Amino acid sequence: MKKTVLFPCVLLLMLVSCHQKQEQKNIDVPEPQETVVLDGVYHFNFDGFELWTLQDVQRKMSADLFKDAKKADIKQFMPDGEADAAINTFLIKKNGKYILFDTGLGLEKGGVMLDKLTLLNLRPEDISTICITHCHGDHIGGLVSKGEPVFPNAEVYCSDKELNAFKNDALTKEVVKIYDSRLHAFAAGDTLLGEIRSIAAYGHTPGHTFYQIGNLLIVGDLIHAAALQIPHPEYCAKYDTDKKSAVKTRKEAYQYIRDNQLVVAGMHLPFSGVIEHFGE
Ligand SMILES: [Zn+2]
Repeated sequence: MKKTVLFPCVLLLMLVSCHQKQEQKNIDVPEPQETVVLDGVYHFNFDGFELWTLQDVQRKMSADLFKDAKKADIKQFMPDGEADAAINTFLIKKNGKYILFDTGLGLEKGGVMLDKLTLLNLRPEDISTICITHCHGDHIGGLVSKGEPVFPNAEVYCSDKELNAFKNDALTKEVVKIYDSRLHAFAAGDTLLGEIRSIAAYGHTPGHTFYQIGNLLIVGDLIHAAALQIPHPEYCAKYDTDKKSAVKTRKEAYQYIRDNQLVVAGMHLPFSGVIEHFGE
């Protein structure tokens, strides 16, 4: 992906060519056009919808998270002992509706995703749907603040398996209570709103879920340190709860992404959080 210097708080709306490499193989999928919008926000045009990355926090992932990795691989792919990463959320505008994928840490934990919404002249009230990849605090923390729902009009979707696995988790319990009838549990494989395909991606958590819209695949916590785990899908960060399943999911996902030439959006991929040409 072409890297573009960001100019804080300046509305650039500058189209950046991103046809640097990769010939399309057999599948005729339109490439997204990236548009730098604002500091911590990246904009992409897809066929039929728009995508924004809203960075919640910038972050590094330490090599210490990968105790099982060979020292030589750490040295090669994480020479500074850490990898660039982030906590990202993703916003889609489709048919005039705003759909958010995960919500970051939340205000009280230092997440600034809401500021990124403000930069786009959007309010939490404007979000109609939220799809959750899994119930860790850096993904659902932004749903609630001081016992209140942050998104007063949103219908929230999360896999039934994930909600069940986290039914005793304090934050998940709070979310379930606060969103009440606006929280919808679905079975992996269901299509949401007629156009968002949910895909079981178990391993990181018991009900971890991907979402696919057109040629975009939102992969949640499939990858924590891109520099190491894209060349080495066999390595798990310590956050993966079922390592064997996580490795299987990662290998199958990489294959699926490559076979279908999907664009990948990851919650911990370094900003912009989006990879157009995966694994090249
Ligand atoms: Zn995470």
